[in-house]
Amino acid sequence: MCECSQKIYDRIIKHVQEKHPEGTNHGATLDGYGLTVNNKGETRTMAYMPATMQWDVKTKSGVKTKKIKTHLFHSHCCFCGEKIEA
Ligand SMILES: [Zn+2]
Repeated sequence: MCECSQKIYDRIIKHVQEKHPEGTNHGATLDGYGLTVNNKGETRTMAYMPATMQWDVKTKSGVKTKKIKTHLFHSHCCFCGEKIEA
C-alpha cells in the first residue's frame, strides 16, 4: 500500500505550522479516508468519496424526498494511482 495519505498529512501539518507559528499543538484530519475491514478481518485505511442517493416517494400529503448517505471506496489511490488491495 502506498504512503500517500501519510505524506499528505505530513505536508499539511508542516504547512499549518509554517503559516501559524504562533500556535501550538497543530493538527489535521484527512476527510475522505476511512477504516475498512476485508473478508479476512484485516483492517486498512482507504480513500472514499461521500455519496448521497435520493428518490421521491408519494405520501398522503404530497411527495417526500428520501436520502441515503453512503461512501464509495476508491479502488486506486487518487494521488499516485496504485491499486488498493481490498
Ligand atoms: Zn498513493
